[in-house]
Amino acid sequence: MSFDNVRGRSTPGRPRTPQVSGTRSIVAQLGPRPDGSIPFSVEFNPPRDAAAEARLWRAAREFERMHPAFVSMTYGAGGSTRDRTARVTGQLATETTLLTVAHLTAVGHSVAELRSIVGSYVDAGIRNLLVLRGDPPGDPLGQWNKHPGGVEYAEELVRIVRDLGDFHVGVASFPQGHHRSPDLDHDTAYLCAKLRAGAEYSITQMFFDVDHYLRLRDRVIACDPVQGAKPIIPELMPITSLRTVQRAEELSGRTLPPALLARLERAAGNDPEANRDAVREVGIEIATEIGQRLIAEGAPCLHFITLNFAKATTEVLTNLGYTMAPSAVEAQLRSVARE
Ligand SMILES: Cc1cc2nc3c(=O)[nH]c(=O)nc-3n(C[C@H](O)[C@H](O)[C@H](O)COP(=O)(O)OP(=O)(O)OC[C@H]3O[C@@H](n4cnc5c(N)ncnc54)[C@H](O)[C@@H]3O)c2cc1C
Repeated sequence: MSFDNVRGRSTPGRPRTPQVSGTRSIVAQLGPRPDGSIPFSVEFNPPRDAAAEARLWRAAREFERMHPAFVSMTYGAGGSTRDRTARVTGQLATETTLLTVAHLTAVGHSVAELRSIVGSYVDAGIRNLLVLRGDPPGDPLGQWNKHPGGVEYAEELVRIVRDLGDFHVGVASFPQGHHRSPDLDHDTAYLCAKLRAGAEYSITQMFFDVDHYLRLRDRVIACDPVQGAKPIIPELMPITSLRTVQRAEELSGRTLPPALLARLERAAGNDPEANRDAVREVGIEIATEIGQRLIAEGAPCLHFITLNFAKATTEVLTNLGYTMAPSAVEAQLRSVARE
């Protein structure tokens, strides 16, 4: 794609980039919903095969009925998954009503390649990007090696994307600090620098102790009141089994607070397999409690890691009082039944 078109200008002989729903900014979606509830949003992962892709679409259609403020698609390091990621992310933007945020990571890419990926998202009508450095493939805690023609930090990528045109950029934030940051003060200063470079909001790493989120919010305001006014969107993940605890710890880079782990282990008793439903129930209860406290503390939105399943997130949202609009087919059946 031509970067003249990235800015929405028309180049002679080329069609102008269509103004599609994807041009709306995330921050503009963060007001209260018609029923007064705060917005929510969901994160999907790149499907690895056709079956996983079908599952993602089932989840996307379920969520569509609950009107999330936006959906986001993570970006992995694997080659074949990358092609599928770009295609599915584009389809979410063009074939659903969902405002789609594409994650963009610097791992393994030169600046020229990153510009070209951004161009392909623009072709799909996507103007919302979550700009990240990404983790080393294989081992997130392993040695970080910058691509020889790439960038060292997300801040540089934010500037590159903003220079390319009218994009709405978000960045990552870390309630307990990023695992490579020397301390919380440095971590906060680097987050403020990413926001100053042109990011409009941040989405946090998943956490289980709301106090960590509140302290992050305080730190950013203390570091730079202008940047502190930008939304910090908290990320949650409902735990549905003891196996998901491990996944949650990998994704958050932190261990679960002992009191929460004890609640899940009590539910699992001596036979986690036989007590699967009880563990799941406690996991949903914990996510609901976190959601309730975040709402009470004025969070701008609740962002759910879904692992491409709708059920657990939908249960938490229902517990929090969110309702699901009937699908077109259900609405038609109901109206036929009324006649
Ligand atoms: C909401 C969310 C979504 C994510 N989605 C993805 C995804 O889709 N794909 C993926 O691979 N990963 C994803 N990640 C993980 C993320 O890429 C990693 O945590 C990565 O290690 C850090 O990314 P960053 O953008 O915060 O990097 P940066 O902001 O560049 O920070 C990286 C490290 O460098 C430090 N630092 C920053 N600037 C400077 C500076 N000027 N000087 C010295 N040190 C500095 C930071 O403190 C930090 O320790 C996501 C994380 C979050 C929270």
